[in-house]
Amino acid sequence: MDILECDLQWQIKRYKQLVQITETLHSSLDVEILLGELCITLKELYPDFSFSLLLSQETYHHNDLPIIELEYDSENIAAIKAFTSGEIQFEYSVSAEHAIIYAPLKGKQCTHGVLQVVASYSTEFPEYEIEFLRVLAGAAGSSLENAYHYQQSRQEISNLQLINETSHCLNSNLRLIDTMTYMSERIISSINAQEVGFFLFTNEQTEVKILPGSTPYFYTQQAKIYIDYLKGKIELEKNPLFIGDCNLHNIKNPRFHSILAIPMIQSEKLQGFSIVMHQKPFFFSFDTFKLLQSLIHHSSLALTNSMLREELEQMIITDHLTKLHSRKFLDEKIQRSMKESEEGTFILLDIDNFKEINDTYGHQVGDKVLVQVANLIKRNIREEDIGARWGGEELALYLPGVPLDKGVVVAERLVKKVSETSDPHITVSCGVSYWNKERIDAYNFLFKRADEALYIAKESGKNKVVIQEQNIKVS
Ligand code: GH3
Ligand code: MG
Ligand code: MG
Repeated sequence: MDILECDLQWQIKRYKQLVQITETLHSSLDVEILLGELCITLKELYPDFSFSLLLSQETYHHNDLPIIELEYDSENIAAIKAFTSGEIQFEYSVSAEHAIIYAPLKGKQCTHGVLQVVASYSTEFPEYEIEFLRVLAGAAGSSLENAYHYQQSRQEISNLQLINETSHCLNSNLRLIDTMTYMSERIISSINAQEVGFFLFTNEQTEVKILPGSTPYFYTQQAKIYIDYLKGKIELEKNPLFIGDCNLHNIKNPRFHSILAIPMIQSEKLQGFSIVMHQKPFFFSFDTFKLLQSLIHHSSLALTNSMLREELEQMIITDHLTKLHSRKFLDEKIQRSMKESEEGTFILLDIDNFKEINDTYGHQVGDKVLVQVANLIKRNIREEDIGARWGGEELALYLPGVPLDKGVVVAERLVKKVSETSDPHITVSCGVSYWNKERIDAYNFLFKRADEALYIAKESGKNKVVIQEQNIKVS
């Protein structure tokens, strides 16, 4: 075989390899897999060379792949030139005894990075090897572009799904706390936020009200400095804030560096705002910021409605669904009774596994079940007793002048009747507490004891009555 033929054989082999690699690259829509394939191929083709992928998009953290973020600095002139011009570049160094090729990873729309191949000799690369690398880098560039597009469109679909599901949840008339908790969980899981908070301007506008669903951090003293700063800025500018590396003059050594703050505007009025934070600087992308903006924008109406509804519920004395008394009414009656009567029994009643009822039969059936329980309560108490909607699926009864043993009988009768007559079948749990003039007591303690008893009833199997006589000491 003469040299020419040998050369030809070599070129045919390379050509075949190229077809095979191109096919492999084009068949992958996963950026990470694709980059892995490319590196394996390069290793096989050039076992004696070293190579790197200089990528312009965010770097993928592969421990085992030679991927580097393409940086615009003076040490990288040839690489940057290959990237910006889209033309292959060379660097020969006789002293260092190496030759470097920079082949742009060029897609149809733009160049996505540069393939750097370092050969440990200083002679020029053969022409066909250069051509081969150029075509290979081109194939990698366009497959990478496809994969990026695919990834982007999947992200957009999942963003739309998130907005759609959240709007759906917001419109399904849940309690504010359930809605906000849902929103907060979705934000945390979809954008990997560490802290999520929702804040409402009060009438005085000096303080903001932290809404339920906010992560516990926002109730701490440290969080106040962030809240106050962002509140001030949003009130003034009325614009969303995208902070990559928080450097507030009044926050020394900030714990959170990445902050997004979005105003909640309804009927052209600034109602409140939402804050999302992460400790790492530059953690959130601009796309995430836009996603959060549309999420808050879509939710503002439902949120304000839900808040108004609950405020209204607080104000009126009868609950519209169950026709029981409102919590406000009950609160007032108990407080007065604790001044005027000798004793009294308080019963907190919660439907067991109510979420399952809603999930299985729908919210409307859930409402009907709640009404059934409320009606049972009304039928089983005296004129002077008070049945109330404590909130959500929790109901409460206050029996003024009734001793504990008699109160417990009432609670047990209710638990039994609910289990026997409800349709669809449900059970309830009750926490009972009692007060009398003989010992120092307060309305808060009375409620807390019943709440603790209810918790024990839930933990110990539900469908039962538990009494809590002593205040649990809080250390
Ligand atoms: P547990 O036995 O521990 O009480 O379980 P649960 O499922 O009842 O408790 P959880 O507190 O997790 O869920 C209460 C559910 O009650 C969630 C909420 O959507 C639902 N709920 C609250 N208020 C209403 C209402 O007015 N109507 C309906 N249909 N559902 C409500
Ligand atoms: Mg319940
Ligand atoms: Mg409950």
